[in-house]
Amino acid sequence: MPLTPFHLGFAWPAWFLNRKKLHFMSLSFGAMVPDLEVPFLVSFSPDAAHARGLMHSILGALTFDILVALFIVYFIVPPIGRWLKRRSKEKWHIFAGVDVTKAPRDPLWALASAGIGTLSHVFIDMFTHEYNPIYWPYRTDMDINWMPFESYTTSTLVFTVPLFIIILVLALRYWTRPFK
Ligand SMILES: [Zn+2]
Repeated sequence: MPLTPFHLGFAWPAWFLNRKKLHFMSLSFGAMVPDLEVPFLVSFSPDAAHARGLMHSILGALTFDILVALFIVYFIVPPIGRWLKRRSKEKWHIFAGVDVTKAPRDPLWALASAGIGTLSHVFIDMFTHEYNPIYWPYRTDMDINWMPFESYTTSTLVFTVPLFIIILVLALRYWTRPFK
């Protein structure tokens, strides 16, 4: 879904609550990975809105989603980070003074960070999507949501606009810069 990055609007402020322990990339990718299933499921679903399953469930968020997020932060982000550092004079790898391209040093905190991210995605989607298979593989035949407005567009805007502003403010203030 094109709105996937808006989930960082939760992940980044959450990371600031405990920058020493929480792992930035585990939280960030945790918050985004559930949408990886959408392009795969879209061809099997009656419509795009229903192209969501295991990865948008509580069970998936606590198991498969965490594994995918940790795979990315241990095996994909560090080599890309090293490549970027060699090629650029800018400090793209620094966010609030932390080198975010390094693999986690504490696996348990990485696991916890990824889990906070994946669960936050599943629950934030409840406010912005009509169909949420949170009890997957059960009750996948019904629309379960917490949308505050009847309209999908209004509900989505009410959440994505503030989240976008949070992302923008934090990125402008902390990307490549130390924490102050
Ligand atoms: Zn989603």
